[in-house]
Parts: sequence; structure tokens; C-alpha cells
Amino acid sequence: MLESYSGYRLILRLSLIITALFLLGYMIGQVTGTVIIGTILLLVWHYRQIARLNFWLWKDRRITPPQGQGSWEGVFNGIYRLQGKNRRRVGQLASLLGRFRQGAEALPDAAVVLDSTYNILWCNKLAQLVLGFVWPQDNGQRIDNLIRHPDFSNYLKKGDYEVPLEIPSPVSENRLLEIRIMSYGDRQLLLMARDVTRLNQLEGMRKDFVANVSHELKTPLTVLQGYLEIMQSMEGDGSHNAKPLALMQQQTTRMQSMVEQLLALSRIEAAGDVDLTQVVNMQFMFEVLKEEAQALALDDYTLSFDCDKTLNVHGIELQLRSACSNLISNAIRYTAPGGHIAISWKRVAAGAEFAVTDNGVGIAPQHISRLTERFYRVDNARSSKTGGSGLGLAIVKHALNHHHSELLVTSELGKGSTFSFVIALPLLESQ
Ligand code: ADP
Repeated sequence: MLESYSGYRLILRLSLIITALFLLGYMIGQVTGTVIIGTILLLVWHYRQIARLNFWLWKDRRITPPQGQGSWEGVFNGIYRLQGKNRRRVGQLASLLGRFRQGAEALPDAAVVLDSTYNILWCNKLAQLVLGFVWPQDNGQRIDNLIRHPDFSNYLKKGDYEVPLEIPSPVSENRLLEIRIMSYGDRQLLLMARDVTRLNQLEGMRKDFVANVSHELKTPLTVLQGYLEIMQSMEGDGSHNAKPLALMQQQTTRMQSMVEQLLALSRIEAAGDVDLTQVVNMQFMFEVLKEEAQALALDDYTLSFDCDKTLNVHGIELQLRSACSNLISNAIRYTAPGGHIAISWKRVAAGAEFAVTDNGVGIAPQHISRLTERFYRVDNARSSKTGGSGLGLAIVKHALNHHHSELLVTSELGKGSTFSFVIALPLLESQ
């Protein structure tokens, strides 16, 4: 029977025993002796119960406690109940842990749990396979003692895990791993490693394919363009071939500009780690950009240039010029004649900012995040008319990436847009 004994009940029991002893002593005429002998017997009995409890707690292998007697029954049963509760809780925790481990083992990526000082606490089987860990020998080892790539050590030292890291696998140089680290639990870290060799190869094949095809298309298009020009000059204006020839010429020019842009994008993508030690002469660059813009805008637009020509930056002139020129030509192409285009290059708190603001067609908010995707166009019909390929902003994005910058777009449909980017302070030329 599971029963707890209240303090009141215990005192009542004790009073009854003492009263009974007094009565017995009174009856046999030995009150003091009876009370002393009775108390000693009571003490012996209690010590016996303590000894049984002690034996059960420390030596006995049985789960159920011995039958407690008297006031000890509640104590024995209470401890038994507590033990049962703990056993159930441990069981629940063990099954939870088991399920977590099963889940972590079922992950398609290598998973490693690290403490705040990068010591390995646990890893799944895939981590042993992909990262070459030996378990349980590597338990407690610092992870950078096992993954010894310098980029990985720097990545840990920096402590900025926003962007994943790509390193060759410690098991095989030919395999490429993408490493992600995230905070996990109480000051622990979860490291996930994924084999991206195949993805990387496919990406390389895609880039090569685009670059090769674009290159191969260049010559036939130039030949076509040349013959079309000759045929056009041979036909009179009134000839019924004049219109189809003009259309063919227009489409060939469009294809040529698309091929040029694809090649430019491939070149920028292939540049990999770029040398940012060269100083770009912004004065010269803006003169070229101004001439280009004026040639494109003719007298149809109001152009305003507000550029701090002394504000030079470190970077690759060709890529920066390509980024700025794409933004300016877009502003002109997506603004109706009569519109106003403002171009500025000025010092801001974070570095130097280039901005192009137009009062053109504007862009609806749902398109803004996708503008820099290759071939993404908000309005295909309009873009075809303006000769767009959907590659301009992809080129801008890559060129800016190389300068640790990104494109910022604010726009309102029907009112106009501002396309801008900031070159951070460390890339500014010190004066
Ligand atoms: P495209 O060659 O088609 O212009 P881009 O990559 O340069 O390709 O631009 C992608 C899309 O972004 C364009 O199709 C156009 O819809 C939109 N866009 C770019 N610049 C502007 C702008 N200044 N105003 C309005 N829309 C713009």
C-alpha cells in the first residue's frame, strides 16, 4: 500500500506507545523501568528498519523495497515511488536521445557537435566517413587538429559562420566539402559538412558550356551581320525585301549583344579570387561613362552627373565600369523619353556610394529580389523592345561580389527606381 505518514499521525503514534508503556508500568508497578525498556525496544526497532533500508538501498538488487513496517512503511514506499518516477524519466530521456541520434544518423550530411572551444562532443557515421574521424578515439579532440586546412582554421578564428566554407575533404583531395556551422543548444556548435563535388563539377561544366557556346556563336553572327549589311545596301528602300532585312539585322544585333553579355558574365564569373590592389581612376571611368550615357540618351533625357572624381577605389576597372554602365543603360532603357536620370558617386559613412536614380517605369516589389537572376525580366515584351537580355543585372551582381559589395534596389511602380551599391571603406584609396 502506498501511503504517506503525516507528522500529526507520527506524533499520535508515539503518544499512544508512551501512554501504553505508562499504563503497563502502572499496572505492574514499574513505571520508570517499563518506559525505559519500552523506549530502548522502540529504538532498536527503528535501527532495524534503518538497517533494512540501508541494505536495500546499497546492497539489495531487488527493485521493490522490503515491506516497511509501522511508520517506516510510508518511507519505504515513498522511496520506491521516487525511484520508479526517476526510472521512467531516465527511460524517456534515453528513448529521446535514441531518437535524436537516429535522426542525426539519417541526415544526408555529416554532423558534428562541438563545444564552445571546438572540441568534438559527438559525430554521426557520415562524419566519420566524410571527415575521416575515428570514433570514439576522436571524442574530445579539437576539430581543427583533425581538419587541418588553413581556410578552415581561419574560418573558426573569424567566428562568422554566415557564409558556408568550401574546402577539400581531409579524406580525399578530389572531393569538395561545404562546411556550415551554427549555434546549437547551450554554447555548443553544430557543424554540417556536405559533399558538393558533383554540384561543383556541374557548375563548372555549365560555365564552360555557356562560355564556349557564346564564343562559338560570335563568328557566325558577325558573318551574318556583315552579309545582311551588304544585302541591305544592295536593296533599294522601296524593295519588298527591305523590311524583312531590317528585322533580320535588328535580331542579329540583339543576338550579338546577348552573346557579348554572356561572354562578359562568363569572364567575370571565371575571374575567381580577384586582385583588389589596383587603384581605379574614377575620374577617367566617369568620363567614359558620361560619354556612353550621352550617346544612349541623345537629347531625349535629362542626365545629371554628380560624381566626386577624387574618390578613387581599389578594384578592377573593367568590372566596375561594366556594373555602372549596365545600371545607367537600364535607367535610360526603362525610362520614357523626357525622363530624368541622376547619377552620383559620393562618400558615405560606410565607404563610397554609386547610385542611379530614374523616374521611369519602376518595378513592383515582388520582382525586386529576383532581378539579378540570369535571364530574369520583369516584363518580357518590354525588355525585348528595349533590346534586353536579362543578363545585365547578373553581370552587375557578380562584378559587385568581387568587390565585396551588393546591389541595392528601391523602386516604386510607375514612379521610378534607384539602383545603388557601396564600396566599403577598406577598398577606398587612402589620400
Ligand atoms: P535586361 O537586359 O532585360 O534589361 P537586366 O538584368 O539588366 O536585363 O534587368 C533585369 C530586369 O530588371 C529588366 O528586364 C527590367 O525589367 C528590370 N529593370 C532593370 N533596371 C530597371 C530600371 N532602371 N527601371 C525599371 N526596371 C528595371
